[in-house]
Amino acid sequence: GLVFLDGEYLDFAQAKVSVEDRGYQFGDGIYEVVRCYRGIPFQLGAHLERLEKSARAIELDLPYSREEMEEITSELLARSGIQEAQLYIQVTRGTAPRSHFWPEGIKPVVVMYVREAAPPEEGLRRSGVKVITVVDDRWKRCNVKSLNLLPNVLAKNRARQAGAFEAVFYEEESRLVNEGSSSNVFALVADTLVTPDLGHNILPGITRKVVLDIARQKGLPVKEDRLSLDDLYRAQEVFITSTVVEIMPVVMVDELPVADGKPGPVTRMLYEAYREEVEEAIKK
Ligand code: PMP
Repeated sequence: GLVFLDGEYLDFAQAKVSVEDRGYQFGDGIYEVVRCYRGIPFQLGAHLERLEKSARAIELDLPYSREEMEEITSELLARSGIQEAQLYIQVTRGTAPRSHFWPEGIKPVVVMYVREAAPPEEGLRRSGVKVITVVDDRWKRCNVKSLNLLPNVLAKNRARQAGAFEAVFYEEESRLVNEGSSSNVFALVADTLVTPDLGHNILPGITRKVVLDIARQKGLPVKEDRLSLDDLYRAQEVFITSTVVEIMPVVMVDELPVADGKPGPVTRMLYEAYREEVEEAIKK
């Protein structure tokens, strides 16, 4: 892999940030993960736009323009030569003696790096995966892609302990589904594709948006709306989406199989269309 830090291109071993970086001490920062196929970033514009929104939400001024970040991305991909890559972008408030107040004029620290992509095993997409459901105990601004991921980390590891691929957060009172610990959730309910509507409870996933656009193009009935836990248990099909995982069929929710416990045809159709969309985007 290769790292961009403070205007320099460095190996991982050389790229160092301060122990007083506010990202390290407070989680005071934001990030993005972008999948690159054959050396070309997918949906980079949408990711950079979301990064700008996250920055605004935490009152941080990005030190680089979108064009400059696109340029750095190209450099990282070209210099590293990695074809199937994951680009990680992190912007923290900056470095200063520890205090909740941030000092006037503090300079954000931008780290961008590429590594070999770590996609899920293809066998999992054929078999489908299990998810568990957990009460959503995160903060009330989950639309911001902030570095504060402790509840997500704990939920994901609870999933693994339960032999599951992902943990799906739901609201304790209303029992409405929000999203996965690092994914968005879709369900096919009464032949309509349903995914929780945008708001403060979920991240506006880039993959979510691509999948919704594809589904609408294909003439599938689509609703961005409330999705209850019961909907999820009784759905015809369930899948999760994210940049890294793309589209993953879910065949078990907690201890209940989804329909017949096999990945469904709508999920497969959407995945194939997603792959075509990727191919189209990287064709030159
Ligand atoms: N929700 C959360 C909490 C996430 O961390 C992610 C992964 N970044 C997603 C949803 C999916 O978003 P995207 O499709 O943009 O990767």
